Amino acid sequence: MKDRGQLHFLVVGAGFAGTAIARRLADTGMRVRVIDRREHIGGNAFDEFDEQGLLVHRYGPHIFHTNSDEVVTFLSRFTDWLPYEHQVLSQVDGRLLPFPINRHTINQLYGLELDEAGVRAFLERVREPQERITNSEQLVLDAVGQDLYEKFFRGYTRKQWGMEPAELKAGVAARIPVRTDTDDRYFTDRFQAMPKDGYTRMFERMLDHPNITLELGTDFFSVRDRLHARHTVYTGPIDAYFGHCFGRLPYRSLHFEHTHIDDREWLQPVATINYPDEAVPWTRITEFKHMTGQQHPGTSIVREYPRAEGEPYYPVPSETSETLYRRYRDLAERETGVTFLGRLAQYRYYNMDQVVASALKTARMLLGEP
Ligand code: FAD
Ligand code: UDP
Repeated sequence: MKDRGQLHFLVVGAGFAGTAIARRLADTGMRVRVIDRREHIGGNAFDEFDEQGLLVHRYGPHIFHTNSDEVVTFLSRFTDWLPYEHQVLSQVDGRLLPFPINRHTINQLYGLELDEAGVRAFLERVREPQERITNSEQLVLDAVGQDLYEKFFRGYTRKQWGMEPAELKAGVAARIPVRTDTDDRYFTDRFQAMPKDGYTRMFERMLDHPNITLELGTDFFSVRDRLHARHTVYTGPIDAYFGHCFGRLPYRSLHFEHTHIDDREWLQPVATINYPDEAVPWTRITEFKHMTGQQHPGTSIVREYPRAEGEPYYPVPSETSETLYRRYRDLAERETGVTFLGRLAQYRYYNMDQVVASALKTARMLLGEP
């Protein structure tokens, strides 16, 4: 092999984890080869123009939000930004209500006119305080009580995960705040924006470096014997790396149904509508133009249908899966010359910015930087 002895790093996966670390390493003079088994870069954040010319996210809606200046500074080298604050409505009892739950949600749902103090008192009355909060059901009941739990959380969570909220770690539902004011943004991070020319363009610029070579359509497991690097950064599923030797780790999958609507400029008032009703087979519908600012006489949407089988998208935060993960993590810690990075390899319900922060930190560690 022509590269033998010259290649410093092999990076498996061209998603946020692989691309960010590849660029950081290349910037310090390292030679890096990035491979991905898919035919495109960007991992699950990949976006593309559909046949009608609308920018869509192939693997579901991706909204960038962070409180990390380091992450924003790093990514801003590769993209300008379009300010965007995500809004979500939830369809409950045939009505579209603000979500996360806020003062308007409670007033509209129950026909009340409470001010902020009134909503606080209302929640104090309906909440069901728990002695210990270890799972998502307890977390929500403790905050808002049975009725709001059933209307907004139980069905959505059962559909999304194929499990009871009581089987999921509290951190899953803890992603969603409960508000007594009228803030109707999905996220409250200091920085919220979309990459101006899309995610894929940002990834292209990140990989555009003389020290980086890219091979798409290349599965690590078919080339691991032929590609020799001093060090490998692996961002695929951790159990696959070890041949599923302890059994399969659960990763939740989704089917994405993309649709273009010709004869309507807009389908819905905000980017995403959630469907907690279990009689509806999808969890949410997202209309991309709200997020991208594109103008078009038609509109493109995606519906998400949760699945047990298929591409791995989410680690499953439960006691049993995390116990199994820890067995793989122990093996990973003993594996010399390989670092495990990202949502699938670290088995963490990471957002994009957390993956980038983890990649930057890992690069510093690998390079022996302070
Ligand atoms: P991935 O993007 O999964 O990349 C891993 C790459 O490794 C893949 O491209 C895969 O093909 C490749 N790979 C795997 N195995 C192999 C192999 N054997 N050989 C070669 N290549 C391999 N985050 C947010 O911050 N905001 C959001 O709004 C948001 N929305 C989301 C919506 C959905 C539906 C999903 C699923 C995720 C969302 N996320 C969001 C999370 C975000 O997608 C992840 O945090 C991020 O993409 C993870 O990056 P990664 O590089 O760790 O993994
Ligand atoms: N959730 C819910 N109802 C909703 C939205 C979210 O019960 O309308 C719960 C559900 O368990 C979900 C979790 O909160 O998996 C986290 O939601 P988030 O929107 O952060 O999920 P993601 O965008 O990562 O799929």
